[in-house]
Amino acid sequence: VKSIAVLTSGGDSQGMNAGVRAVVRSALFHGLEVYAVQRGYYGLIHDDIRKMDLRSVGDIIQRGGTILQTARCKEFLTEEGRKIAVDNLHRRGIDGLVVIGGDGSYQGANKLSQLGIKTMGLPGTIDNDIPFTDFTIGFDTAVTIVVDAINKLRDTMTSHERSSIVEVMGRHCGDIALYAGLASGAEAILVPEVPYNIDDIASRMKENFMNGKRHSIIIVAEGVGRGEDISRQITERNGIEPRVTVLGHIQRGGTPTHNDRVLASRLGDFAVRQLIAGESGKACGIINGELVATPIDQVVAAKKPFNMEMYDLAMRLSQ
Ligand code: ADP
Repeated sequence: VKSIAVLTSGGDSQGMNAGVRAVVRSALFHGLEVYAVQRGYYGLIHDDIRKMDLRSVGDIIQRGGTILQTARCKEFLTEEGRKIAVDNLHRRGIDGLVVIGGDGSYQGANKLSQLGIKTMGLPGTIDNDIPFTDFTIGFDTAVTIVVDAINKLRDTMTSHERSSIVEVMGRHCGDIALYAGLASGAEAILVPEVPYNIDDIASRMKENFMNGKRHSIIIVAEGVGRGEDISRQITERNGIEPRVTVLGHIQRGGTPTHNDRVLASRLGDFAVRQLIAGESGKACGIINGELVATPIDQVVAAKKPFNMEMYDLAMRLSQ
């Protein structure tokens, strides 16, 4: 490759900017031309593409969101749309593309690589739902935000002897709930990957209350259902009325943690080096601390395995 582009797509996440910065600076370091596409695949189709230099990515490593913005683009789901995108890249002599995004963005990247564009995917989502990487860019910051919120809830709950239900993001993946739950000593962690029994949870809460435990925290991953519904079911069974907090999009904002910045920087540079080595149609990730590139079709066909050992540990420690 001689000339590459970078875009961010789908839901944004903290650390995407650090990834963009790494792709741009690594590409320039290796003597490539580098372009940025605004608004993901939408910008690719509408030719919203600009040339980048070292200074274009200054002062962004610490910023949440993405300076390239992101979009959900229906036109890109059609063959005609993707052909326009490829033509726009060819016209500028761009032969490589780094896509920072989630599962849907990976599907799009895969199709572009089948059309001859050398493509690399970087896992940009707070959900940690991408297989073949231990962590996605943004996950660490999202969990940090949830843990910080639970610390605050704990203070006021302990004063008032109350129980709390905290609804967190993650779509069909329970990792935000799992990590935040273990890190904050939650009594129950409801995730889509593990069936739960509301009768057991309600009776354990009652028992703990009788034994002197005056507050409890239950974390509900959005893929399980709404916190309000879980709260009602608990009240019906044991008379305790847990207060519900829905953290929502706060989890996707704010300055990225050092973990997310380091991860995004390493992955961004790795993606560029993979393209230079002639690789295409791969998703970059980190497994046991090692950078890895896995064929995107394998990644989109797989489901992220759930860490049952960590879940059991969280339950053992929260007695
Ligand atoms: P995320 O990447 O966060 O999962 P989306 O699922 O919304 O977000 O995907 C982002 C964009 O990727 C979509 O708006 C669409 O343009 C493109 N995309 C998603 N799925 C496909 C697909 N199967 N084929 C081609 N492009 C896709």
